[in-house]
Amino acid sequence: MQNFEQLLQKYAGFIVRIGVNVQPGQTLIISAPLAAAPLARLCAASAFDAGARDVRVDWSDDALTRIRMEKGAEEALCDVKPYVLRSYLDYAESEGGVCVLSLLASDPEALAGLDAGKVSRVNAARRKALMPWRSYTMNDRVQWSIAAMPSPAWAKKLFPDLAEDEAVEKLWQLIFDTCRVTGGDPVGAWQAHLDRLTVLQDKMNALDLESVHFESSNGTDLTVGLADGAVWESAASRSEKGVSFLPNIPTEEVFTAPHKDKVDGVVYGTKPYIHGGQAIKGFHVTFKGGRIVEYGAEENAALLGEVLDTDEGARHIGEVALVPASSPINRSGVIFYNTLFDENASCHIAFGASYPGTTRGGNALSEEELLARGMNQSLIHEDVMIGAADTRITGRTRSGQDVALFENGEWVL
Ligand code: ZN
Ligand code: ZN
Repeated sequence: MQNFEQLLQKYAGFIVRIGVNVQPGQTLIISAPLAAAPLARLCAASAFDAGARDVRVDWSDDALTRIRMEKGAEEALCDVKPYVLRSYLDYAESEGGVCVLSLLASDPEALAGLDAGKVSRVNAARRKALMPWRSYTMNDRVQWSIAAMPSPAWAKKLFPDLAEDEAVEKLWQLIFDTCRVTGGDPVGAWQAHLDRLTVLQDKMNALDLESVHFESSNGTDLTVGLADGAVWESAASRSEKGVSFLPNIPTEEVFTAPHKDKVDGVVYGTKPYIHGGQAIKGFHVTFKGGRIVEYGAEENAALLGEVLDTDEGARHIGEVALVPASSPINRSGVIFYNTLFDENASCHIAFGASYPGTTRGGNALSEEELLARGMNQSLIHEDVMIGAADTRITGRTRSGQDVALFENGEWVL
């Protein structure tokens, strides 16, 4: 690829300046696989240029993760030592505070064939142990962002017929295209894109909707009641200190919190749901009074069951998001086998926790207060794609009026 080094530099700069939006005096905590080292280094340099006090990198390795999951005793893997949590909180509570960047370069099938129940339980134990730290990002107390780069295994998964280096280059091109880097001015392109999403978000909030109804010819007929005080959000979020940031790169969605007890009907997945490195294909779930009472899948139905059995909240949903079929990710025609991209190809719902910020003033509310508003709580938040090319979405306002939101997979608002 011509100009690869320049594009990579621009990508890193955009991730740090618009994505995490590192502020002077903050420590940037980067989690990255070893394969992402070149991008992590560029991000670190860019963060120092933006005034970061320090940059800490937590390295991981898919192959090592697999060895531990395969050979480690579940009891030992679930035993997360207190210092792990402390090591994050020490930064978070220190002067200047933190911001957080996760770089992904994962092999979508890194854990394929392993005991899915064990993997689920070990991951849940880690999430639970780190909950006080996770609440910093889940509640938008600090700026956080997730961005991806190709791994050879990921690229080969997408383009099995290409040689490894060609597959990696093709995936880089796709990432640069869908992240608006290719044009050479990602910072400017994103400001314009974010403005468009903000207009849609403001229109949605002005409607004061009580529910949204999804219909597609694949059989989807789903009514999603919204949480009390639900607010529609888009790409840019704001931290406790008022600093804007982009949690997910790329992002095309306008989303809010469902009411955990007011979802009814059936919904069919329109793209594979990748969990723990395995693809759950052709799935559907049926809701009654907000709870998933029936489910099935053409492939890996048992794994879907494991996910839904994580805890009671995993049987309810915590997010509903609207994404037009014309999104650059969907137009690329590629299934990325990576939620970060695939969720931005299509309308989606998430099994599990809601984002407190998607109900008015939610980041300052207690767990009980959030529950009372119908905000779902769970150890997981798993996005699954439900938008089709012919999806129609109709909103119902609190005054009982129906408003067309989507026709044939596109915004009509
Ligand atoms: Zn989403
Ligand atoms: Zn989500």
